[in-house]
Amino acid sequence: MPSLTDRVKSFALTIGFDLVGVAPATPTPYAFAYPSWLEKGYAGEMSYLARNAEKRQDPRLVLPGARSIIVGAVNYRPPETPPSAKSPTGVVARYAHGTDYHNVLHEKLDRLLAFIRTETGQLVNAKIYVDTGPILERDLATRAGLGWYGKHTNLIHKRLGSWLLIGEILTDLTLEYDRPTTDHCGTCTRCLQACPTQAIVAPYQVDARRCLSYLTIELKDAIPEAYRDALGDRIFGCDDCQDVCPWNRRAPETDEPAFFSRSWTQTPDLVELLRWSPETFREKTKGSPVKRAKRRGLLRNVAVALGNTGDPTVVPPLITALSDEEPLVRGHAAWALGKLGGDTAREALRKAQTEETDPQTLREIDRAIEKIEKMPCSI
Ligand code: SF4
Repeated sequence: MPSLTDRVKSFALTIGFDLVGVAPATPTPYAFAYPSWLEKGYAGEMSYLARNAEKRQDPRLVLPGARSIIVGAVNYRPPETPPSAKSPTGVVARYAHGTDYHNVLHEKLDRLLAFIRTETGQLVNAKIYVDTGPILERDLATRAGLGWYGKHTNLIHKRLGSWLLIGEILTDLTLEYDRPTTDHCGTCTRCLQACPTQAIVAPYQVDARRCLSYLTIELKDAIPEAYRDALGDRIFGCDDCQDVCPWNRRAPETDEPAFFSRSWTQTPDLVELLRWSPETFREKTKGSPVKRAKRRGLLRNVAVALGNTGDPTVVPPLITALSDEEPLVRGHAAWALGKLGGDTAREALRKAQTEETDPQTLREIDRAIEKIEKMPCSI
């Protein structure tokens, strides 16, 4: 008869986990580095990361009596799609192409816990987390033998690469622990060099305040001007550090249908997105991770991406966005028009200057007009 640990692992694989391992519920190896990461301000506005800092370092403070942590990972890399003939289009980070992973992984972990309770015949004390609890998930995954912590701070598995989403069950059950995986980054520094904003400030350290994923998703206010050009055509998250990783060259595509791309996330039509009403946003992002940015955040990103196209045909929709109900969207549309330049953009900005009531948006408009006036010629 296989051990309980083996039965739990086999069941996890049958319900769609690609990897599963068990770590001891003791302080994680990188726990000591967490407070200094917070002290440096690298968490940006994600103040929730500073809450329960002690618990994050010791899982036994999260679940008293915890002995084991079952860590499961699912490959989320969606099947590649041919580039769209439509123009201009934006890019959504791969993890957000399909259904929200919190729901997908939570549902699998619920099933796994129900299986454990049936197998043991006990009301096992347990807590489930998917990117929401006060635990250092990637550290736990490395301890459970699922992969190593790459210099870009994502989990990497030799065969599956880094397109992995993880979730955990903390439990008071005693299970057999896996051995941690060793680091296979070696002398490689590709991700550090590829990051468009140099957010990987040192191996294994990301300054979230510079990271395009943070700036396009977590940041609720204006994107600092210094990073808007670097945003390029990204409208939700960024995969650059993972795209260049040699361990992702042969990474397979997911067979989890929930992570297949929705039609609009594959090659989002930027002009169409800029026209999304609150109702359309709600309908299109239902059950999607993109919902987290809210309409104002997503359209802010879209406006910047349109400004980065250098395409004069996007000036009219950006002018329409100068009247958007959200000041944040109006301000970034103004920036985009200032970058694109031209007489039409300048006239529209001048008109908006007389009508705008929000001080921050007005500053964006003033700067955009100034920028156009300094341009040597108009498009
Ligand atoms: S790109 Fe190189 S350094 Fe960065 S995570 Fe991948 S292997 Fe490690």
